[in-house]
Amino acid sequence: MAYRFIYFDLDDTLLNHRKAEKLALADIWQEFELNKLVTIEQLQETYHHINVFLWEMYGRGEIDRDELQRTRFERTLFRIESTSSWQEVGDRYMERYQEHWTWIKGAQKAFETIKKHYPVGILTNGFAETQRIKLKKFNLDTPEIKIVISEDVGIMKPQAGIFEAATTISGFQSNEILYVGDSYSSDVLGGSGFGWDVAWFTNETDADKLALTKLHFNDFQQLLDFLNIAD
Ligand SMILES: [Mg+2]
Repeated sequence: MAYRFIYFDLDDTLLNHRKAEKLALADIWQEFELNKLVTIEQLQETYHHINVFLWEMYGRGEIDRDELQRTRFERTLFRIESTSSWQEVGDRYMERYQEHWTWIKGAQKAFETIKKHYPVGILTNGFAETQRIKLKKFNLDTPEIKIVISEDVGIMKPQAGIFEAATTISGFQSNEILYVGDSYSSDVLGGSGFGWDVAWFTNETDADKLALTKLHFNDFQQLLDFLNIAD
């Protein structure tokens, strides 16, 4: 298939969000003495569970951004019986989170190589302000990279509306686009549901899930091979 445009997901596809989240939680665990209450694994699990649940509510429009930002730490601290201020912990978490961002292994080289051969874009769910800081930090905020952030569009992946908006922004047709992402629910279901081909960055082996993708890979070299690009 000759693609004419390639979109990438940002978190946990190009940049290691999950690792930054874990490291930032480890920082606040020490700084706010949460280590006297729970193990780091308990904190990470509690926060992650609450955050994912709230993001789903946010995605359905049931809560707004401020409520999400407040509630994820309010609930986490309540659950672990900490009396620290959710505001202070939340602010410190965001500071530390930003300091721990890194590329996913192999993603920078692959992205830059692909960018020489195809017009590219980034399609991400997330807070516009945070995602813009990320894009700037990793030099992804250049004019030739089309950026689509769910908070700007007002619709989150996997809803069709954001794929429709991104298709329009790309200037190509949905069947000319390849989407590279890591999330089954947001990227694979959302992208394939809208008629995009999906290259899934995953270790998944479930045949039914893989059937919705054109490629599954866990090493960015495989993506370059799939696209027949050497350098
Ligand atoms: Mg992702």
